[in-house]
Amino acid sequence: MHKPVTILAFLFIVTVSRVLGQTSGIISIDNVNLIPMTQETVLSNQRVFIKDGRILKIEPTSSPRTYEVAQIIDGTGKYLIPGLSEMHYHWRSKDIESDLKLLVANGITTVRNMAEFDGQNQVDIRRKTASGELLGLNYFTSGPYLQARDLASSAQVSNVVKAHREKGYNFLKLADNLPKDLYLTLLAEAQANHVPVVGHAQRNLPLEYSLRMKSIEHVEEFVYLSDDNSNPLLKQSAADLQEVAQQIKASGVYVGTTLVVFDFINNCLDDTKFSALQKSELTKYLVREERKNFLTERNDYRKLKNREFEGVKAPVLFSSYYAWMKDFTRTMASNGVNLLTGSDTYGMVIVGFSLHKEFELLQEAGLKPYDILLASTVNPARYLNTYPLEGTITEGKNANFVLLGKNPLTDIRNTKSIAGVMLKGKWFDQKALKQMLQEVEAAYK
Ligand SMILES: [Zn+2]
Repeated sequence: MHKPVTILAFLFIVTVSRVLGQTSGIISIDNVNLIPMTQETVLSNQRVFIKDGRILKIEPTSSPRTYEVAQIIDGTGKYLIPGLSEMHYHWRSKDIESDLKLLVANGITTVRNMAEFDGQNQVDIRRKTASGELLGLNYFTSGPYLQARDLASSAQVSNVVKAHREKGYNFLKLADNLPKDLYLTLLAEAQANHVPVVGHAQRNLPLEYSLRMKSIEHVEEFVYLSDDNSNPLLKQSAADLQEVAQQIKASGVYVGTTLVVFDFINNCLDDTKFSALQKSELTKYLVREERKNFLTERNDYRKLKNREFEGVKAPVLFSSYYAWMKDFTRTMASNGVNLLTGSDTYGMVIVGFSLHKEFELLQEAGLKPYDILLASTVNPARYLNTYPLEGTITEGKNANFVLLGKNPLTDIRNTKSIAGVMLKGKWFDQKALKQMLQEVEAAYK
């Protein structure tokens, strides 16, 4: 009597799983132009299967469908790219849900928060994005924004590093110049405790010291640096800067771009541009308090308008810095320096939207769209040690994508033509993304 029951049970299980197979939650994106980011290419008419948040298979649409699916997303005429990375984010709204919506609605599936401000618990946000209590972006965070007074003795350095290890921050953010001995102690302690040091450069030491960090978070930092001969980079010839870029490349350090925040500062110093900022449609995605701080004459940068630094008016000086930064970004890119796209969400640098503005400025600086996308997909994944599962659209990787109406490889501004976003296999169509933005607008009113 034993055997037939077993066979019956087996047949029952087979029948059930066949039924489940049809509604197993497999999704396919059909007939799409795939930009896998494994090389500079567009693979036309592809079908991408997604199951349990991962890429199950990629095949040409012309071949017979390998899997039955529960949902088909029509990718005809559209372009699929990996989810984007905002590598310099600051949470400043007291409403993390809204900020995460702004990020996802803009195609961002990986975010790195760059300071834990008072009253925040960034590690808890990271936990909640991973568990699904919050929108499930890949969330990384540094510890607090550390200044010289936080690291004023070797005992203090040890305590800070220990606290970072225990709390489990992904990075230690150094935002100030330290005396050489304390800086070297910090690097050694952090290394022993497996805490990567990132942040601003050591402006009082030759360039090589700053290159020991895992990443330098603004191109602006190079404006204030000198090479070994105490020769400011700002004063060097194009030929010498090629050599500097090669030195940066050789060190393997990553460089966060954040041109857009400097662009914002320049815009504050110009009456016409500032008035355009005040009228921008995007101000509705900024919390009221921030609008008061940055869109009125209370804005600290407005007060710099008539100041002089070493005999040069601030607007003239800052715009010359900005022009240099764009040139130097292009020089670094052409020398293969590992760039990371980040916007530094401060002032009128609006969460989510600002990454696309950053892309636009990088393109204006002379970077190829493909290189800009690398700095927002592949490079961040390598940097964050997530490349086995992130950064490209290939089988087995996490299903984090952006579906675009237009080809971003011909013009990076096309990353704004978002038709849908997939976040770990969950599909948000244009209507769902619009809904997210409306919710933020209501929350920030
Ligand atoms: Zn920052």
